[in-house]
Amino acid sequence: MSSSSKALGNMEVFIDKILRSVKETIERFSLLKEKESLFVAISGGKDSLSLADILWRLGYEVRGFFIDLGIDNYSEKSREACEVFCRERGIPLLVIDVQKEMGATIKDVKSKAGRAPCSVCGMVRRYLMNAVPLRYGVETLATGHNLDDEVNVIFWNILRWDLGSLARQSPLLPRSHPRFTKKVKPLCLTYEKEIAKYAEAIGIRPVEERCPLSRGATLLELKEFLNQIEEKNPGIKRGFYEGFLIRRKRWEEETQLNLRECKLCGQPTTREICSFCRLRESIKGG
Ligand code: SF4
Repeated sequence: MSSSSKALGNMEVFIDKILRSVKETIERFSLLKEKESLFVAISGGKDSLSLADILWRLGYEVRGFFIDLGIDNYSEKSREACEVFCRERGIPLLVIDVQKEMGATIKDVKSKAGRAPCSVCGMVRRYLMNAVPLRYGVETLATGHNLDDEVNVIFWNILRWDLGSLARQSPLLPRSHPRFTKKVKPLCLTYEKEIAKYAEAIGIRPVEERCPLSRGATLLELKEFLNQIEEKNPGIKRGFYEGFLIRRKRWEEETQLNLRECKLCGQPTTREICSFCRLRESIKGG
């Protein structure tokens, strides 16, 4: 056997291994029903595009879900990467424009509402990822969070003892309210480096630009710190995450939320008007 056909064979074995391990994760946490129809939130990055590809190969009825944040060149290039990816696979793509939904781009919000772009961006994306699938009659949305992302965010929330966020950190957020979209994270047990290798193996072309509004170095520093620990103790992140899932239940019970419907949009919220509508109103009012 020539060295190139041997390398090709090894690559096929690796692709197959990733497909099987994601399938096992889906089965272990009962994330999806067989052939379930769902949106996959794609940003143009390697993780979300790989997830869409994996679920598509596993036979799910995948639809791409891209949120155009209106961040100059970065959003344009990200959208292009998603369009090319979906076109190559015949996957339908839904593009949601933040400017149309909110009356301002993420960049505008900084000046109009005087809030840090990343915190607004996170809140707006969470809102749209919940509200929009329901508009289209789709009950499930999958996101490309990998094991490293999950461990990083859990550490960050522990550092701030944000129990509410810790309670929501789960491979599956079920449809516990008629106005909730089910959220699943099929890559939660897959390391980032494995996904990078998978993306390369199947020829995914992710967006290369970085968001110009990217947050301060704290989360990146934490990520590097955790990577160094993993390097010296291979598997420690996986062990930590498994341990977290066992303990999470307690925090979930402690932070049971009293939800009602937002007076303006009807989405579940703990207040009279949800944070998305409050922000939208504040932008309208200048
Ligand atoms: S870096 Fe911040 S503003 Fe840019 S996409 Fe990420 S969260 Fe949004």
